[in-house]
Amino acid sequence: MGRPITVGIPRAFGFYLYYPMWKEFFEALGVRVVASSPTTREILDNGVRETVSDACVPLKLFHGHVQDLADKDVDYLFIPRLVNMARDAVFCPKFLGLPDMIRYSLDDLPPIIDVRIDLRKGKLEALKICYRVGSLFTKNIFKIYDAYNKSISKFGSFKDLVKKGIGLTDAMKILHGKGSETDFKHNGELTFAVLGYPYNIYDPYVSADVIGKLHNMGVNVITTEMIPDEVLNIDSPEFRKEAFWILSHRALKAAHYLFDTKSVDGIIHLTAFGCGPDFMVNKLIELEAKKRTHMPFMSLMIDEQTGDAGVLTRLQAFVDMVKLRKAGEKEGVAWNESSDLSLYGDVSHGYKTAARADG
Ligand code: SF4
Repeated sequence: MGRPITVGIPRAFGFYLYYPMWKEFFEALGVRVVASSPTTREILDNGVRETVSDACVPLKLFHGHVQDLADKDVDYLFIPRLVNMARDAVFCPKFLGLPDMIRYSLDDLPPIIDVRIDLRKGKLEALKICYRVGSLFTKNIFKIYDAYNKSISKFGSFKDLVKKGIGLTDAMKILHGKGSETDFKHNGELTFAVLGYPYNIYDPYVSADVIGKLHNMGVNVITTEMIPDEVLNIDSPEFRKEAFWILSHRALKAAHYLFDTKSVDGIIHLTAFGCGPDFMVNKLIELEAKKRTHMPFMSLMIDEQTGDAGVLTRLQAFVDMVKLRKAGEKEGVAWNESSDLSLYGDVSHGYKTAARADG
């Protein structure tokens, strides 16, 4: 028997949201799935070399991951044209153009499976897409239908784990038999929301491991994906119009929900250098944070040169500031809209004011 056909999936963009489902689908068809290696300096540098300088960091990184897979000698690359996966909202245009950008930037690539995924086309569209992809590997439509069902079921299990508060990459580990739920539960004294795009937040290299660093400081972390879809989908009066791209909209809705419910001790917005939508999203969250001074807020921008030490210092300052503030609250220091001790924006300002409250 020859070696099984291999499909490579880049560890970037849609990987963080859909990998368990895609992997299950291909494996049920007898296809071996290979993900690109976790991000390294070399992968990022390769991506930077192949893209225009003003592209967003995740797009540069995607190119590096595709190159990594090409070097692994896979038979196909799976780079779908992700348009819409739920409701009416669509992904950022960079998602839509990925297969074209890759084809015109990198040479000597294996064939690209670039199926267009736009679930607005009707209830059977997901099944039709699976048929189009599955028929590359088998003519047996029952096998494709079975693979489709298995992948939907796996996606349900993945989402259930995430809704219980397990991070996306930890949920993947559990599904792949590398740990149990209790291994990934954290009981820190603070809880922060880290908002932004999952392909930035959950890539430990590009985010300078924000999540891991917060866990080490005794902080539990929630991300947008853990917030119930019903909450993120509710139309609220302050949202007369949805932010056009789905992940931007979800980050904004998550921030509003957390400001309203006060269910976390602080919010960090992780933004990516070169991301057009983030200029708007970050500004809108910042403006909201200015109005809701009860919630400490910080934005962190990542770029190709983001250093571990710089991120660690900012996170440590933010954590200290929130702890001081909570201690102040216990002693009766009032933190409200009229207070000049609000913890908004610039960490150094917040730290000074919190220290002042501490006496
Ligand atoms: S939303 Fe921003 S970071 Fe994400 S792909 Fe679009 S431009 Fe890049």
